[in-house]
Amino acid sequence: MSSLDSWSLPLHAEKAVLGRLLVYKALDLHRAQMEAADYGLLWEELRGKLCNSTARQLRFGRDDQPLEAYLKDLARELREELFFPDASAELVCAPLLDFIDELMEAAARTEHDLLVGAFKRAVELAAMEYIRHGLPVPQELIKGATIEFEFQENSPGQTLPIQMEAYTLLEDEGSSPSAIVHVILAPRLLDEQTAFALPYVLLHECLCHVLQGPWVWPRMQADANSRFAEGWMDVVAYRLHAAVDAIQGDTSITDLMCPLRRAAQMQAADTVHAARRAHHDADRAWSHRAIGSEAANLLLDLLGRLPESSDDPDTPFMQLSVSLNASSIDNTERDLFVSLIYQHLYLWSRSAPLVPLVRKYLTDHDTLGLVAHTTALVV
Ligand SMILES: [Zn+2]
Repeated sequence: MSSLDSWSLPLHAEKAVLGRLLVYKALDLHRAQMEAADYGLLWEELRGKLCNSTARQLRFGRDDQPLEAYLKDLARELREELFFPDASAELVCAPLLDFIDELMEAAARTEHDLLVGAFKRAVELAAMEYIRHGLPVPQELIKGATIEFEFQENSPGQTLPIQMEAYTLLEDEGSSPSAIVHVILAPRLLDEQTAFALPYVLLHECLCHVLQGPWVWPRMQADANSRFAEGWMDVVAYRLHAAVDAIQGDTSITDLMCPLRRAAQMQAADTVHAARRAHHDADRAWSHRAIGSEAANLLLDLLGRLPESSDDPDTPFMQLSVSLNASSIDNTERDLFVSLIYQHLYLWSRSAPLVPLVRKYLTDHDTLGLVAHTTALVV
């Protein structure tokens, strides 16, 4: 496994992050079974050893130790330092310890950086959603997307309940598109919630921002308080995330985009998705995200009630959303469209002017027409 330029952390610390992310997956998969067998305490002990060992690696690890050797040492250390009170304890722990060995060996055999691999997969999954709706994502846009992992000692301290913050900068120069996704992690504080929310967070960055249109350069970055980019499109990313396991097919146990226990990944995404639109004193943009995501859900609700789309409200919703995000409509008008959807749908009594426009969209799939007619309702 090679280390890429995408990391701003010393090599020994990068290994600790990967070790922790991978072992969390194994621990999570076996937790309920160990607890059910009444050995939950040993599970806690193993988790504690993982956190201590990786914290020591962060502080004192050697840069020159190959990643393969580090991961195998970590697995050995977890196994060797565990004290079994009785024979059945050893039997109950064996499947987890064996699985950690298997996971570390698989990771050691992987040629690419697993976190960079997860990002590339997220770009691919997001692009597939656009392509599925007839929007051919330019190859140069996919190739121009890169990721940078940055690190800090303390919690990124923003509004989300994870030890991670992500944002995307569009840095198109002349005729070539480029987007850099920055992911800031706090390695010492890295917990399961952060590890399992990573796929949803990466999908949000790729679907909402990296692939934002219009696909001519340079592009105009949406503001952090954009109702469309950060509220509405986040609902789209969340729904794509929920559908991803059906898209993924067979994946490796080390794939950081794919859960070992699906419910754990869904739960982490649910928590972060809800936190993005929850009230927060320190971040007034929450209200714009809340309006944007509520507008998206209100439209989904309407589509679920209309006879033309009640069988499958998701498809027209996703199609409208990605085609609007890829379109030439500017960021201000996108936000205005979202605000008007909200205003017309949050009280059913106000929906009358909007419903025929949505029904027309279901027959002609004319995104520009729907936006133009909706924003004309403002006067
Ligand atoms: Zn965003």
